[in-house]
Amino acid sequence: MIIKAKLVVPDSRTVLKNGAVFFSQSEVKQVDTWEKISANCPTNNILDFGNAVVLPGWVNAHTHLELTNLRDIIQRKKCFADWIWQIATSKERESSSWILKSIQDGLKMSWKSGTTTIGNIHQSLDGLQALKSSPLRTTVFYETLGFNTKLEKTYIDRLENLINQSLPATKLYQPAISPHAPYSTSPYRYRHSLDVAQKYGFHLSTHISETQAEIEFLKTGKGDFSHLLEKFGIPYQAWQPPKVTPIAYLDQLGVLKKGPQLVHCNYLSEEDINCIARTGSSVVFCPRSHQYFFHTNYPLKQLIRKSIRIAIGTDSLASNWSLDMRDELRRLLEFGADYLSSESILDMLTINGAKSLGWSKVGRLEKGWQADLVAISLPPITIETIDDILRQIAQPSTQNLLTVVAGEIIYKHN
Ligand SMILES: [Zn+2]
Repeated sequence: MIIKAKLVVPDSRTVLKNGAVFFSQSEVKQVDTWEKISANCPTNNILDFGNAVVLPGWVNAHTHLELTNLRDIIQRKKCFADWIWQIATSKERESSSWILKSIQDGLKMSWKSGTTTIGNIHQSLDGLQALKSSPLRTTVFYETLGFNTKLEKTYIDRLENLINQSLPATKLYQPAISPHAPYSTSPYRYRHSLDVAQKYGFHLSTHISETQAEIEFLKTGKGDFSHLLEKFGIPYQAWQPPKVTPIAYLDQLGVLKKGPQLVHCNYLSEEDINCIARTGSSVVFCPRSHQYFFHTNYPLKQLIRKSIRIAIGTDSLASNWSLDMRDELRRLLEFGADYLSSESILDMLTINGAKSLGWSKVGRLEKGWQADLVAISLPPITIETIDDILRQIAQPSTQNLLTVVAGEIIYKHN
């Protein structure tokens, strides 16, 4: 098949005018101007989107589709621990059919808005099949948490059962593991998650340095999270606060050796940033979730200066207004910062996310790479640079027209 459009952006450095992408089965075979591709046109199967741009599909590096339909139920809270309490005690999550519907709705929202790959945190057996058989490229991180001071057999059995049901990986799906966060997951369970990652060759993701309360909890064992654990009746008193930053704590636990996906990283010291850079870990920034929780001053400049791989996630609809990566793009453009080029924004939204999730040859349109792409409408004006293109497609007036994953059309706008 050939997808043709006024502009084709195969990667963050290249804009082809009157371009085309030729792919066969799941792989890109050629990306060039239409003139060159048509000279030796190997197929009659051609879709011409005219005044549109074709780009690599969006990679949403962090979301929780199980929570999609909590959107209108959860109240926005300034206190993060209060927000967690709402999520954990929501009655809706007790229903298997509700969870399945949430996942199905989240998947549809994702592909309709041009997301081709997701990194999805998942807790239950419910909806597992919907994720495994999804037409999206999906890394499913099975979430572990609990502050108990030992590994009970029931915990290990439940996790092993989930992992057994999650296997095997396919060409579009890979299972992975996510110890939730230092305020909810004991060191024993972090280490056990590392063992699981080692045993099964899983990627690992964890929420980290999300709030000042998390930093306080690790320094003193007190604050919002100690109150939250008490409210849940979770015995954590045997746990000794490590008196270090969340990143240093992960380093002590051996987690950073795994080169994990570090989700949020809203509050980092200079030494934290050096540590992330040293271990080659990826950071997932969730721009609109960051805004939702009233955080300010994301350390983007410092992370970019250290050449740390930054991917972008929406997080769930319990802390965002949409799962549309172009809304995250708009938020990133609002930074208007000189250290943040449009080229690096496009990398964050595509190839960086794919790498952070462990996918190779995904996130760029190049011969031999996966044919994961989108076509997005453009206004009838002169558009030439990557910066022009990103600014236009961030406008709500433009429209995702096509989503292709591994060479299959999974969404086409009528
Ligand atoms: Zn999250």
